[in-house]
Amino acid sequence: MDNNIEILYIDDEYNNLVGFKAALRMQYNIHIASNTTDAENILMTNPNIRIIFCDQKMPGENGIDFFSRIKKEYPRPIRILITAYADMDTVIDSINRGHIFRFIRKPWEEAEVISCIEEANKFFVTNSLLETRNMELQKAYEELDKFAYSVSHDLRDPLSGVLGAIRIALDFKSVEQVHEILFLMKASIVKLEDYINSLRDYYLLRRGELNLSKIDFNLLFEDILDFYKVYTQNSGIDFNIKVDQSKTFINDKSILELILHNLVSNAIKYQKIDSHDKRINLSVETHNGDARILVSDNGIGIPKEAIQDIFRLFFRASDQAEGMGFGLYNVKTAIQKLKGKIEVESEIDNGSTFIVTIPSK
Ligand code: ADP
Repeated sequence: MDNNIEILYIDDEYNNLVGFKAALRMQYNIHIASNTTDAENILMTNPNIRIIFCDQKMPGENGIDFFSRIKKEYPRPIRILITAYADMDTVIDSINRGHIFRFIRKPWEEAEVISCIEEANKFFVTNSLLETRNMELQKAYEELDKFAYSVSHDLRDPLSGVLGAIRIALDFKSVEQVHEILFLMKASIVKLEDYINSLRDYYLLRRGELNLSKIDFNLLFEDILDFYKVYTQNSGIDFNIKVDQSKTFINDKSILELILHNLVSNAIKYQKIDSHDKRINLSVETHNGDARILVSDNGIGIPKEAIQDIFRLFFRASDQAEGMGFGLYNVKTAIQKLKGKIEVESEIDNGSTFIVTIPSK
């Protein structure tokens, strides 16, 4: 028995209401109502009600009419009718039409009510699980659809680029001409490599368990700084890091790296090309067991109307740099996996700040 199970009992006879509550209140969380209007108010304010018992014979609206009326608005709770023998034809018809899950005879006995609750609860739990699985399946189908589309564009385009370049190069006589075309081929191959890296991240995030270790943010940030050093120096970007870590922080290092690489590479990609003052700041503070990481840039910024979409798979808001719209989707999935959150502040032409909060494990 589980006293988290919330039950609504509707009966116009006060003694029955009191008897039901008195008998079952220790095992379950019981709500009672003496008419269907009150019952509806209770349903409205208690979304976790799993099982509804309703007496068939009540002045005004009877039990079956009530159940068939609320079925659309409250489809999840399991509906159980309490009735006398005399109503049997109506009851069978109602079960057949799916308005009720079961009925119990009046006067009810405690043991029968309890077995009915347990059975209804099992049905409810199975249904909820099925609903969750269906939602996951729906999401997986949608992603598959996007993948099929993206493979036909994002993988085919760079491949066609390389093939085209090879065909042209075959007719070249001088090494200089071949050299020139190699640059074009390189750009296409880098694009392919990015795509494959993002795919690797996508599958890394689907791996079940976390690989936990103590995180030294100084080391982690130094590695990121080193990784992008050649690029930031060549592009004149002033890249600063700041670490304020007073507490031990435990988490999955590969997933943190994935988040940081995606955010920092975007901060680099979306700089204002002609600016002489390009800046990126990467900082972290540990506080109350959380790490609050900020990645900010003074680049091109994100259009207001696009901000809510940037975490969607394959969504892109700018053509300034090569990209597939994969990065921030992976960032969001990674942060969800670590039970953290991400916020964005951005202004066109003034830059963007991504604020990531992650709890220590
Ligand atoms: P990609 O960079 O491959 O397009 P992302 O998922 O990493 O894909 O980012 C989605 C979109 O969000 C980008 O196309 C870009 O328009 C926007 N964006 C992300 N980060 C920044 C940033 N730091 N500055 C400006 N725009 C950004």
